[in-house]
Amino acid sequence: MLNANWNFDNSYARLPERFFTRIHPTPVSDPELVMLNRSLAEELGLNVEALASEEGVAVFAGNHIPEGAEPLAQAYAGHQFGYFNMLGDGRAILLGEHVNSNGERVDIQLKGSGRTPYSRGGDGRAALGPMLREYIISEAMHALRIPTTRSLAVVTTGEVVIRETELRGAILTRVAASHLRVGTFQYAARFLSKEELQTLADYAIKRHYPNGEHASNRYLFLLEEVMKKQAALVAKWQLVGFIHGVMNTDNMTISGETIDYGPCAFMDVYDPKTVFSSIDTQGRYAYGNQPYIAGWNIARFAESLLPLFHDEEEKAIELAQEVIAPFPTLYETYWLKGMRAKLGLCTEEEEDKKLIGELLHLMHTHRADYTNTFRALTLDEWNFSEKEFRDWHTRWQQRIARQDMKKEEVYEFMRQNNPAIVPRNYRVEEALAAAEQGDNTVMERLLYVLSAPYAYTKEQDEYAKPPAPSDRPYRTFCGT
Ligand code: AMP
Ligand code: MG
Repeated sequence: MLNANWNFDNSYARLPERFFTRIHPTPVSDPELVMLNRSLAEELGLNVEALASEEGVAVFAGNHIPEGAEPLAQAYAGHQFGYFNMLGDGRAILLGEHVNSNGERVDIQLKGSGRTPYSRGGDGRAALGPMLREYIISEAMHALRIPTTRSLAVVTTGEVVIRETELRGAILTRVAASHLRVGTFQYAARFLSKEELQTLADYAIKRHYPNGEHASNRYLFLLEEVMKKQAALVAKWQLVGFIHGVMNTDNMTISGETIDYGPCAFMDVYDPKTVFSSIDTQGRYAYGNQPYIAGWNIARFAESLLPLFHDEEEKAIELAQEVIAPFPTLYETYWLKGMRAKLGLCTEEEEDKKLIGELLHLMHTHRADYTNTFRALTLDEWNFSEKEFRDWHTRWQQRIARQDMKKEEVYEFMRQNNPAIVPRNYRVEEALAAAEQGDNTVMERLLYVLSAPYAYTKEQDEYAKPPAPSDRPYRTFCGT
């Protein structure tokens, strides 16, 4: 028997018991490995051969608990579309924390592993399509250099899940810096004692922001660090045209990783109002709203920490507001830095913001493809026929000429900051449709080209094509 090299040390399981429920995954009848992320397995110091063996697959299926794991479902709450709810892992189980040889600690979580006390009306299961979708998009995000949870494996269960039709059941093994969420703090603030809330905050600081242990007010420090991480993260989303789709507070991590690839999608035509999620009828989580929502979520995080900032509530609120007030400015700083890089600007001029704003405005009015507009600029293939676009290009060239950088260097800089390709929705759908029929080759090829989005290889060209015009807007679905 091969040893997979799992090395569990489960700090979360040592938190007070009301933070979780110990529970095993529900075994499945006939597990089969569909995807295994070899490079991630290697990063984690795991033995790929052992993971792919029958024993290894049994772990991904929840049929076998590896030595040292302490399976549990996490308790959390959250604001969903603005409304507070008690939630928790309703279809996920944390096996524990794997520590690699560099001492890096990651959560190993099975998603789709059966019912838990937090399942409410749900079946605790997941379908193959959405789990592969999470695999593809989370790995694409990682390759885009955007902090994200990772996907280690997908197995089918041999069982059906019932949605609108019968679908093949599957389980995703998700790897995360942790699964601590804003919603975990909201849960503690609402339902647990101040001591338990403090224990959670101390735990989060130790695990993600250890410098805070020496700060004068460690809880304000935690708030500030999470705020900075989220401002940076959402700026990165905006820069690549990623729409998360369900930025509920339970889907915002304390680590600053992107989590929960339910209804997310990449924008084709540039329009700040773009929404893909079928349930987001108000456009709360539209592309252009994401920075605002991130700020709103951070305010909820601050609220949940209030008792730890100061004994007097009024003073606590004052301190919290001081910390989070700069969020919009901070976000804009990150975004502007990223936009300058996309335009190949290595110096800063007062007028840059205007130049960027004009480009976005033109893209919006002319319904230009977001990724491909920057791609065309990067490849010096600017072939817009509209005069306004050509005029803008002239102004951009003049701006470029004012910095001390060879043209070749500018283009090289731009190649590093503008992805040649993103996971286009129609490409993802095409890969999933083939995989559903048992053919993984389309997906493998897609994953391969997405693994180096800044490479600008010839083989990526066909993946850069925008979708054919359609009279039906692309729609995504939550929790399927
Ligand atoms: P999500 O939309 O994936 O962030 O999930 C929101 C909440 O619904 C979480 O508490 C999930 O665990 C729960 N949930 C989603 N799908 C299911 C399901 N099929 N069975 C049980 N709980 C679910
Ligand atoms: Mg979620």
